[in-house]
Amino acid sequence: MNRPELPWEGGCRCGQVRLVIRANPLLAMACHCTGCQRMSASAFSLSLAIPSEGFEVVKGEPVIGGLHGATRHFFCPHCMSWMFTRGEGMDWFVNLRATMLDECSWFAPFVETWTREKLAWATTGAPHSFAELPPLAQYETLIAEYARQWV
Ligand SMILES: [Zn+2]
Ligand SMILES: [Zn+2]
Repeated sequence: MNRPELPWEGGCRCGQVRLVIRANPLLAMACHCTGCQRMSASAFSLSLAIPSEGFEVVKGEPVIGGLHGATRHFFCPHCMSWMFTRGEGMDWFVNLRATMLDECSWFAPFVETWTREKLAWATTGAPHSFAELPPLAQYETLIAEYARQWV
């Protein structure tokens, strides 16, 4: 699989919000939960967990959407694309919706979550599947295994 060299650029559907990624993603994920089904208007959401220090909004001002709760979902204020999420108590990474990247053809989910809520036909090809979320103790192993794909 060929992944382009960093930095990566991306943006929303209309281009009013633009992003630059300067750190390798920790994980690539697909989430089948019903919340992601609604917000993505699709069967699952796609995420790249980007270390916060390597994630920058370089144009535009994303606004909060979704449930407006402790986990913050950021959208373009004009085209309303669901762009990225900052999870409650997890300031050290940002979950970027993978399809915001200008070049995302290399993306494939490595972990899929909330399969117990998934649509019956929905498959992602992710090698690691979880009925809900991975146990906290397993993240370190998953992150190390994901990183090995790119060396
Ligand atoms: Zn937009
Ligand atoms: Zn979800």
